[in-house]
Amino acid sequence: MATSNSSSGVSRNKKVTHLDLKRPQDRLPERSTSFLRELRLRISSLSQTTLEIEKIVQYFFDEVQAAVHVEGLNYVHEGHNVAVQVGSAEKHRASYRLNTQQSYFGEVTFTRRKRFSEVELSRLESLLDLFVYPVRNGLQYREAVRSALTDPLTGVGNRLGLSNTLQKEIEVSRRYDRPLTIMMLDIDKFKSINDIYGHAVGDRVLVDVTNYMKQTLRVADAVFRLGGEEFLILLADTSLDQAVVIGERIRQNIEQSHQGSDTSPYVTASIGIAAYQADMSSDDLLNAADRAMYSAKEKGRNKIECA
Ligand code: GH3
Ligand code: MG
Ligand code: MG
Repeated sequence: MATSNSSSGVSRNKKVTHLDLKRPQDRLPERSTSFLRELRLRISSLSQTTLEIEKIVQYFFDEVQAAVHVEGLNYVHEGHNVAVQVGSAEKHRASYRLNTQQSYFGEVTFTRRKRFSEVELSRLESLLDLFVYPVRNGLQYREAVRSALTDPLTGVGNRLGLSNTLQKEIEVSRRYDRPLTIMMLDIDKFKSINDIYGHAVGDRVLVDVTNYMKQTLRVADAVFRLGGEEFLILLADTSLDQAVVIGERIRQNIEQSHQGSDTSPYVTASIGIAAYQADMSSDDLLNAADRAMYSAKEKGRNKIECA
């Protein structure tokens, strides 16, 4: 793990207090160098054992106590949708923005009932580099996982994302005996849309269709692109009858929004719906929806069929 920090900076209370993180021991005259070195080593090796931000925050909170008594630690990175709180949120706060020259790695806030002294703040600041770098690695890891599960064109989950989520939803449905329904949607005659209007228009249609599904469902996570012009919608806690109503709304939305003109295609989709039955595997469920979708194609397209 990189611990070099030549270009990093930390600003307290959002002011531009850039600190030299290279020589932390200089900031702790009243503590022995060996004490600090041991503490730094301990924090550093602990935070290298994980890429989970929650754990990194917890370890840092636990270990920092040896240097300064802290009652709460909050870490937030809005862009990455991360918010972690350990301990209790108290009245006195010291916040730091974690920056390197290129990037922003979130904001950390120490809290306590009693005011922090300047010496204590310096001590906390001197340890922040041990937090920044594990957190940066944790953020990169989160991003790698997220992008491995996401379709880059439409921003919805991909096939891998689906297999993770579907397995979990099947377990929930089994355990709590709740209905689970899936919907396979395939755009009709998409090849000729590409052929007539071009690939860029085809891509635009894929994004539009994704948005109609998301708008109708209001749960972005429930939509997955399986590849090409084929999508899967996961409807937790939804019966087959309810799913048919939702599917019909999606089918109509797509057709009505793409009536066709010289520059934009007429777009329709065929939908196959299947409800989870006891002892089905995830593949059984997917195959059932797939067969229903093909039956909608056979019956003339722009239709819904149920397994
Ligand atoms: P059907 O009504 O039977 O579903 O016919 P179809 O033309 O939609 O089905 P087919 O499987 O024959 O063609 C799918 C086309 O989707 C072929 C492929 O070039 C196109 N396609 C796959 N991925 C993408 C993509 O990311 N962007 C665009 N624009 N086209 C894609
Ligand atoms: Mg198709
Ligand atoms: Mg297809």
